[in-house]
Amino acid sequence: MPSFSVRPEIAALSPYVPGMSIEEIRQRHQLENVVKLASNENPLGTPPLAMEAIRRCAAGAFRYPQSGNPRLAAALAELHHVDARRIAIGNGSDEILDMLIRMLAEPGRDNIVCFRPCFSIYPIQSNICGVEVRRQPLNGDFSFDFDALLNLVTDRTRLVFITTPDNPSGYCPPRADVAALAARLAARAPQALLVIDEAYMDFAGDDADGERRFSLLANSELPNNALVCRTFSKSYGLAGLRIGYAVLPEELAQYYWRARLPFSVNVLAEEAALAALRDTAFRDATLTLVRTERRRLTERLRDLGFSVWPSHANFLLCRPDDDGPDAKVCFEALLKRGFIIRPLGSYQLPDHLRVSIGTKEENDAFLAALEDVLRELDTNEHRADVF
Ligand SMILES: *Cc1c(COP(=O)(O)O)cnc(C)c1O
Repeated sequence: MPSFSVRPEIAALSPYVPGMSIEEIRQRHQLENVVKLASNENPLGTPPLAMEAIRRCAAGAFRYPQSGNPRLAAALAELHHVDARRIAIGNGSDEILDMLIRMLAEPGRDNIVCFRPCFSIYPIQSNICGVEVRRQPLNGDFSFDFDALLNLVTDRTRLVFITTPDNPSGYCPPRADVAALAARLAARAPQALLVIDEAYMDFAGDDADGERRFSLLANSELPNNALVCRTFSKSYGLAGLRIGYAVLPEELAQYYWRARLPFSVNVLAEEAALAALRDTAFRDATLTLVRTERRRLTERLRDLGFSVWPSHANFLLCRPDDDGPDAKVCFEALLKRGFIIRPLGSYQLPDHLRVSIGTKEENDAFLAALEDVLRELDTNEHRADVF
C-alpha cells in the first residue's frame, strides 16, 4: 500500500507514451543512420547564431535569469509591433498554454472548448486541473466548423483553443474567419478568451506573404478577447531549449508574470532565442526549404498512392489509399529501415500518418525507403494470394 494518495484527476491519467528516439531505433534495428521525421523539428538544425550565443554565454550559466526576460520581450514586441507589456515568455509555449488554463479556469466549475483531434496539451492540462473539456469534432476534411465550436461555449467557458495552422492536418483558416470567430465569441461569451496557437504560422502559405493572409498578429488586428501563442521550437530550431511566447491582453500578461514560476526560462534559452531572431539567413533558408519540399513531398506521396492533405505547416498528414497498405504496417516497416515518422493513434487517427518535412536529402531517402516498403508489402500480398 502506498503511503500517499494522488488527486483523482492525476490517478485517471494514462502513462505518457513518448515518441521513439533516434538512439532507441538505432539499437533495436542495428542501424547506423536513423532519420527522425516525427516531431516537426527544424530540418536545418540549430541556428548558427544561436549556437554561437550559447557558447558565448555558457560562463553566465551560474547566474539566475533576469526576471521577466525583458530583453527578449522587447525584441518580440518590436517584431510584432505590440507593447512589450503584452508579451509572455515561457518554458516552451506548453508552459504558457498550461498557465492560461490554471490562471483562468476554476476547477470543477469552468470549462474550455477545443476541437477533436487537437494538440493534446489543451485537454490534458485541463483534465489535470479538473476543468471540463468540451470538444467539437473536426470536419471530415480536417477543416473547422466554427459555428459548431461556438455552440459548445457556455457562460462557464473561459478559453476556446484553435491551432492555426492545425496539427496534425496542416489546415489553416483565413484570418477573416478567425476574426469573425473572435467577434462572435465576444458577443456570446464576453468572459471567454480565444487562444490562437500559431506554433506553425511561420510556414503558412506558399510565399513570404502567407503569414499576412492567415495571422491576425501579422496585421496588428488581434482583437481584445484573443491571444496568440508562438514558439521557438519549430521555425527557429530551438525545440530542445524549451522556449515559447505569447501576445496577451496586457492585464493578463501581468498576471502571467506574477503567477508563473520565476525562473522557468533559462539564461541560455533566452540568449539563443535573441540570436535566433537575428539569424535571418537561417530563417529564410528554413522557410524556403520547407515550402519547396512540402510541395515536392506532397506530389511524390500522392504518386505513391497516398491521400495527402494540403499543409500550411512543416509536416504532412497522409493516409494510404483504400487499396494501399495498413498505416501501422507502413510505419513499422519504415522504422526497420531507420525512418521515424508519426503514427496518429493518439489523435484517434489510426489510418493516418504524419511526416515532418526534412532536408532534401532526408526526404529523398525517406521516399526511397517508402517505395521499397510498398514494393515489399505488395509482393507479400501477392504471395498471400498464391498460397
Ligand atoms: C510544437 C507545438 C507547440 C510548441 O510547443 P513548445 O512547448 O513551444 O515546444 C505548440 N502547439 C502546437 C500545436 C505544437 O504542435
